[in-house]
Amino acid sequence: MRTLLDGIRQYDSERSDHAARFAELAEGQSPHSLFLGCSDSRVVPSVLTSSGPGELFVVRNVGNLAPPLVGDGLSGTPPAVVAAVAYALDVLGVQDLVVCGHSSCGGMQAVLNGKISDPHIERWLEAAQPALHAWRVSGPMDASISEVDQLSQWSTRLQLEHLRQYPSVKRHLEEGTLRMHAFWFDIADGRMLAYDESERRYRPAVDVLGVKPVRSAA
Ligand SMILES: [Zn+2]
Repeated sequence: MRTLLDGIRQYDSERSDHAARFAELAEGQSPHSLFLGCSDSRVVPSVLTSSGPGELFVVRNVGNLAPPLVGDGLSGTPPAVVAAVAYALDVLGVQDLVVCGHSSCGGMQAVLNGKISDPHIERWLEAAQPALHAWRVSGPMDASISEVDQLSQWSTRLQLEHLRQYPSVKRHLEEGTLRMHAFWFDIADGRMLAYDESERRYRPAVDVLGVKPVRSAA
């Protein structure tokens, strides 16, 4: 297996390939999308979206969660995601917000099992409890996949609802300057899916995004 040092050495040897782009980016960033994904090492935002430096503003955490806002969000809600979203939308002017879940998610497996030994992980995964409830009450969007994947699809979709409570998201949706997407990456076959509101299920992302009007309030 390659090590961290192996990777750094390779980057160093290829650094001149990126010199022009980084010189340009030293002046500032203007990413087109905010990508909220799981920390899982197999889900690499830049690979899945063919993006280079300066294109994605990335937030990653266990389970690709956006905790629901409690009150004004200044107490009770873990602030990291709220702050990152506000920065991306209000300062950087990002126009597409993606929440990306994936198959075989360890975070979702822990939620499903209900046995979490670490209190910090347990506290964090509370943001997935509404999804567990929704999945149990409404059933799977796709009955052909495993239970953990069914839960992951529900959770990824529901994080958009949590995000809609965030002041910055609410404002940009009202102004019509933000599109929101729920993506779901199937690791085994490498397919990227997106939630189709009209069909209430995930379909190939290229098909779903292809029919979405630009700059509409999702
Ligand atoms: Zn995961």
